[in-house]
Amino acid sequence: MKCEREHQVIEATRNGLWPSSLRAHLRDCALCTQTELIAASLQEDAAKAERLLDLPPAGIVWRRAQARRREGALQRATRRPFLIVGALSAVYSVVFLLWGIFQLPQSVYRLFVAAPGLTGDVALAGAALSGILVIVGSCVLVLETKR
Ligand SMILES: [Zn+2]
Repeated sequence: MKCEREHQVIEATRNGLWPSSLRAHLRDCALCTQTELIAASLQEDAAKAERLLDLPPAGIVWRRAQARRREGALQRATRRPFLIVGALSAVYSVVFLLWGIFQLPQSVYRLFVAAPGLTGDVALAGAALSGILVIVGSCVLVLETKR
């Protein structure tokens, strides 16, 4: 079964312009009433889908992607120098701990003989080692961030 005004009903549902003769036909024709219900439902679903897919403009998407790419490159560039500095710090800590263990009896002895604290030579060697490691770490950091 097919009605000849079915296409007019679909068009009227789409643009919202209902001539009085078509309204009168809609009251009498069950097929056109069903067609109007289905067309209105599909139109509503299309409007919902359009609202859900509210994408930002292409320029904004592009800028966000570029910012994400730069952020990732920066993270990759800075990860390795920090790992190297961390490893050097660990080596320095182990050396300092071993030095402290070997110096412990002497410093305990000096507590009773001399004034407490490090002697000038030992403090100077420790400061020099710290300075060397800081300079090496900074050089590695500068070299890695230039890439
Ligand atoms: Zn009809």
